[in-house]
Amino acid sequence: MTPDLTSYDSIIVAVSGGKDGIACLLALLEAGASKDRLELWHHEVDGQGPSFMDWPSTSPYVSALARDFGLPLYRSWRKGGFEREMLRKDAPTAPVLFESPEGLIRSGGQGPNGTRLRFPQVSASLTTRWCSSVTKIDVADRALRGQDRFLHRRTLFVTGERAGESPNRARYAVFEPHRTDTRHGTRRRRHVDHWRPVHQWSEAQVWNSLKRWNVMPALPYRIGFSRLSCATCIFGDVRQFATIRWLDPARFDRLVQYEQQFGCTIKRTVSLEQLAEQGRPYAAALAEPDLARACLSARPIPTVFTPAWELPAGAFGQGGGGNLKKKKKKQKVGKRKRGEGGQHRPARPARGGSVRVLAPLRAGRSRRCASLWQAALSCARRRGSGKEIKTMSDTLERPAQAHAFDLKQAHEEGWTILEGCGPDNDETRLVGLHCSDPQAWWRVARKAGEGSTYHREALSRLSENEREQIRLRFGPL
Ligand code: SF4
Repeated sequence: MTPDLTSYDSIIVAVSGGKDGIACLLALLEAGASKDRLELWHHEVDGQGPSFMDWPSTSPYVSALARDFGLPLYRSWRKGGFEREMLRKDAPTAPVLFESPEGLIRSGGQGPNGTRLRFPQVSASLTTRWCSSVTKIDVADRALRGQDRFLHRRTLFVTGERAGESPNRARYAVFEPHRTDTRHGTRRRRHVDHWRPVHQWSEAQVWNSLKRWNVMPALPYRIGFSRLSCATCIFGDVRQFATIRWLDPARFDRLVQYEQQFGCTIKRTVSLEQLAEQGRPYAAALAEPDLARACLSARPIPTVFTPAWELPAGAFGQGGGGNLKKKKKKQKVGKRKRGEGGQHRPARPARGGSVRVLAPLRAGRSRRCASLWQAALSCARRRGSGKEIKTMSDTLERPAQAHAFDLKQAHEEGWTILEGCGPDNDETRLVGLHCSDPQAWWRVARKAGEGSTYHREALSRLSENEREQIRLRFGPL
């Protein structure tokens, strides 16, 4: 069913940057929703702090989406985000901040003291899996309740849950009064309906919708991730965590350290290290290291529209590539084998034996780098000796340590980025976090801490202000 869209004063679409939320927006536009009443809401899981759970590239992607469709975008977040809530000890849950036409509004933060000191646990219960409610659901509720512009008006709140994602989501109603609805109340009366327009859609329908509108899926889909939202979602499988360990070892290490500190793992029976050990990074990520690195960059995205739309590698949970027809076929087969919902099949355990770097793989921005990497991996596996390659920085930084500092080399590694300039441009200079990828700088800082002359020299060329920014985000250099 499609509700009478003309009967609403405001239509809010919750967009995480994932395909389902975007499909909701496109479905609304195809159903004739007036842009004057539409607005996009985006919840920042990390609370606008340093990247911990979310993809740094998501926020710029959502900005570009709103800009391209000419729609207002309001962000909202729990102060300190996921990490602060996880580390809460004898303290109340932090307040929520949300953008509104009247400016930034603050709500809550005066609750009872409590302690978490553990990751949310994989569960259908939102009390145990507190991340969804603390960083998204309650944030949206507070933003709805905290704005008088929704009082005595009709509001449609639109979200992209699909029945095919999980048995739990299959139980959601397609249309119902929203939790914040007070239409029968006596004071602060507010009519809010909740509509899930893609609830009955298949994944293929969702991708077809993005294809019709030439909307480029967010970057992580293109390196093999089948869902967007948190990069290190607690529901992640072996391949997802193997990819994160390869792509962003600093983030992975922090998660591992927290598991050890809490004495409680994300998955009940296995640590993250054991989990990642059982999987291999997505082939699409290995084949496109530049794209993979771009997922960790918060640089602005000029547009979400693409003239050459392609099904992303992560479609249908395969982590590979291919065309839509083949993928649809695979999806049917997958459902028969794996049951309704198409849950990921556990990836094959990594083959035994360690891997040795065979040649000085120079980090580059070309496919050649990826094929060299893969050739090195497979050849070294055949030989079965030497040092294991687990992370992207094994590829990026090991050869660099062999040389004195070189601006061109650093540029190729992705941490001396200056928009619009290249390494051959005289005006290119080192920049810290302002224009660069913070995660790349974190790897530089870590290598410097381990004594690499090359990386120490890079750090010494930064201004004190730039070094301070790195210290603030990642700790002492
Ligand atoms: S995406 Fe995963 S980790 Fe992030 S809030 Fe949702 S359930 Fe939690």
